[in-house]
Amino acid sequence: MDHERYMRRAIEIAHGNPDAPFGCVIADRENGEILAEGLNDDQRNPILHGEIATILDLADSQVDVEAQRLVLYTTAEPCPMCSGAILWSGIPSVVLGTAIATLKRLGLPQIELSCEEVASLASFGGFEVVRGVLEAECDALFEELARRTVG
Ligand SMILES: [Zn+2]
Repeated sequence: MDHERYMRRAIEIAHGNPDAPFGCVIADRENGEILAEGLNDDQRNPILHGEIATILDLADSQVDVEAQRLVLYTTAEPCPMCSGAILWSGIPSVVLGTAIATLKRLGLPQIELSCEEVASLASFGGFEVVRGVLEAECDALFEELARRTVG
């Protein structure tokens, strides 16, 4: 998988919500197709994080692809809620840009539990994680948000 290509798309999506630039795509590792996309919409619903929106988009699209083939790309590390949703969806691979530690350093509200920690606690198998893909570009989204909104 060309991780940067999919992360670039997630970043493009993230630009759609400068107040919560959490963009996400789910791709099929077999044919490289993007199957679902999502953007944080917590103004509409507080649990509509980018990853949740994308998992819902995939379910709505009713594409019939084995979960084992799915790779989820997200501009920032999945929070514990989203990590749980990824686990329950059976998605085995997560690629992320900005780390929770970075969001916290920027003063953005976070639950301090890494996605690897959540994945390691699942009794039915976790997901593998690739960190730091286009990290500088992803960090820039959140640095810009922090400049406008934090303290
Ligand atoms: Zn989340």
